Amino acid sequence: SPSRCSVIIIGAGVSGISTAKVLAENGVEDITILEASDRIGGRIRKEGFGGFSVELGAGWIAGVGGKESNPVWELADKSGLRTCFSDYSNARYNIYDKSGKIFPSGIAADSYKKAVESAIQKLRNDEANPCGGDLSKGTEPPSMPKTPMELAIDFVLHDFEMAEVEPISTYLDFGEREFLVADERGYEFLLYKMAADFLFTSEGKILDSRLKLNKVVRELQHSRNGVTVKTEDGSVYEASYVISSVSIGVLKSQLISFNPPLPKWKTDAIEKCDVMVYTKIFLKFPYKFWPCGPGKEFFLYAHERRGYYTFWQHMENAYPGSNILVVTLTNGESKRVEGQPDGDTLKEAMGVLRDMFGPNIPDATDILVPRWWNNRFQCGSYSNYPIISNDDVVQNIKAPVGRIFFTGEHTSVRFNGYVHGGYLAGIDTGKALLEEMEKEKKEMERKSDNQ
Ligand code: FAD
Repeated sequence: SPSRCSVIIIGAGVSGISTAKVLAENGVEDITILEASDRIGGRIRKEGFGGFSVELGAGWIAGVGGKESNPVWELADKSGLRTCFSDYSNARYNIYDKSGKIFPSGIAADSYKKAVESAIQKLRNDEANPCGGDLSKGTEPPSMPKTPMELAIDFVLHDFEMAEVEPISTYLDFGEREFLVADERGYEFLLYKMAADFLFTSEGKILDSRLKLNKVVRELQHSRNGVTVKTEDGSVYEASYVISSVSIGVLKSQLISFNPPLPKWKTDAIEKCDVMVYTKIFLKFPYKFWPCGPGKEFFLYAHERRGYYTFWQHMENAYPGSNILVVTLTNGESKRVEGQPDGDTLKEAMGVLRDMFGPNIPDATDILVPRWWNNRFQCGSYSNYPIISNDDVVQNIKAPVGRIFFTGEHTSVRFNGYVHGGYLAGIDTGKALLEEMEKEKKEMERKSDNQ
């Protein structure tokens, strides 16, 4: 029969590693970490591209310089991770139209201000009237973005961040600054450092047999006595408790079946949380043809189709001389390019760049298109709770079901969607499980005393 350990952790992303670390540091060392892919890190992932290390997943440490210190910023500081400051606020002054003209800054700033006001108005309307319906009580319907410039601004405001519209806890608590990770060792270096605190490593490699890679969990059988975990390759593991750190997209996908099934309050909550798809496409060029210098890191392309290769960034600040551009797509556009050959995506991107910079720019020599949506161990980029939702949804997504506990960025009430959200959620779930184990131990002692 399979050997039994105290806790099985499903997934070795930031939340899985941080939860395992909390357990190990508190004396629960007979743990098993089952990770579906062949590496740790999950949505923190670097890849070599055009001679540099680029981040396909999380790229920024968001929320720095505020009254409280962002724990991920502290980890980065301790590890000497190389980062550089990112200033998005100039993007609105670098909006190109299809003929390559930059919109005058006054017009762009004005349009931006209007878009923020209208988004705030819409939020108020929705709060006053959460089920939609008629807006009779003196509220004005906000104007819809129509022109390519308005659409570009709308995309930045809504598909990136709403910080100017709605207070975001990350910026409130940790500060408004964001730093891009620009380190050859990758953002994931932080995870290796964390893992090395409690797993056996040698020469930078994790050799601890408690971490099992290429183990795709497919079934959880749970009862009052414990949990049996079955993986795709036919292995069976038993534990007193399981912590699942798989993404909200994976929970929705039903890659893992639960036996007995999850209760309705749980599946309803999982249903209510949206999955955001966010795709950074990297392009390598023989030389640079875009403006650099202060205020030029980000630029926008205004097209009549919302989100069509709108948001651009050059990598010269991170890696001078890299000649790499990044364009970010989201949701529908992300899914569309994931489904087509990269050559087609390259042609589209070059068409857009020639609109902005003229016909004589060189072709990209390489392209990298991450596929977070079609990766069955991710099924999306991060959780996105409806703006007008109550904390019950997150609480229900986080709440344990019998001996199965849940963690991951999507279980973080304040910081979902961020690396620090995953990190803090892992600590939180680890502590909750330790308390539960303590309770169970006392209960057992009480029972044996009574016998
Ligand atoms: P994951 O990292 O997804 O870890 C879960 C692990 O479970 C994975 O390793 C997965 O392989 C594994 N798994 C899945 N299914 C199974 C199974 N059946 N059996 C076993 N293992 C399984 N955050 C920021 O703070 N700043 C950013 O700039 C930023 N940008 C982002 C950009 C992109 C493109 C993406 C995708 C994310 C971004 N994020 C950013 C969000 C951040 O990356 C995540 O919030 C965080 O990494 C999630 O960690 P996690 O541990 O919750 O989940």
